[in-house]
Amino acid sequence: MSISRREALKTLGLVGAAASIGGVSVGQAQSSSLVIPNGAGFNRIKVGEFTVVVLSDGQGNPSALLPNWGANPELQDEFKATLKANYIDPAAVRNNFHPVLVDTGKNKVLIDSGNGVNTNAPTGRLVNHLALAGYKPEDIDTVFLTHFHGDHINGLTNAQTQAIFPKAQLITGEAEHTFWTKPATGAVGAGVAKNIVSQSAKLKLIREGMEIVPGLSTVASYGHTPGHQSVLISSGTSQMMVFGDAAGHFLLSLNYPSAYLGFDADKPAAVKTRASLFRRVAGERMLVTGYHFPFPGVGYIRKRNWGGYEFVPAAFQF
Ligand SMILES: [Zn+2]
Repeated sequence: MSISRREALKTLGLVGAAASIGGVSVGQAQSSSLVIPNGAGFNRIKVGEFTVVVLSDGQGNPSALLPNWGANPELQDEFKATLKANYIDPAAVRNNFHPVLVDTGKNKVLIDSGNGVNTNAPTGRLVNHLALAGYKPEDIDTVFLTHFHGDHINGLTNAQTQAIFPKAQLITGEAEHTFWTKPATGAVGAGVAKNIVSQSAKLKLIREGMEIVPGLSTVASYGHTPGHQSVLISSGTSQMMVFGDAAGHFLLSLNYPSAYLGFDADKPAAVKTRASLFRRVAGERMLVTGYHFPFPGVGYIRKRNWGGYEFVPAAFQF
């Protein structure tokens, strides 16, 4: 049995003028396909007066979680048991990637830029999901980069290093930029950061605790990379912490205070940073999002009696 497109839209409650999501018609954004992803690839919430949109850049192909996402050799069995107790198969996990748009009314700031389009991967969907949320790439006036790993910066440009967000100023941490682009460390870095180097004219470097735009400021969170910075969003009395990769894995890095990632550059520093960030956001009951947390990506951090923490997802709001 086949149903017509119109019948299918009717079933979905999308017939007529309502056949659009975020001002973008379903047909336009999805070509002829009728498959509308759960949550349409974004999660829009309010933080004070600001609109915050957690965007999915797609999910990676299933791959082994260990040892990269919990690298302590002495904890491998415990990590496996914790994952299984949470119904996660350690051998086949789809990674999430969550750039965040903050629309302050005055500025539209994108925090991290995703993996970039790669026809061989199920990622690189940021711009599509941005459209579903009602924003065009040229609407973005600022892109802030937490750090220079490829899954955070590759979406800045296409393969020809042309800017995907043509009107945006790029802002990032001075220490992070120095690490990846100075000749001393640049053997790897210059290649990795080529899409940033190609846009140096639009680049502004800032230090910890500084303002990105009014209402958004950087929070030092060194360890995952030498100059990693998270973002604190503040509007009125409401606040939200955009961790970037400083929070690590939503179960292992939270449950085990000594856990570190295989790709934490300075492991003891990353562990120390996590401890202080988690203490702060749990103590202040602050809303958080982590770049690799499970979609739709928003919640709270709660301290538990064994000395670790746990992620408490915030209920999804339509
Ligand atoms: Zn990452």
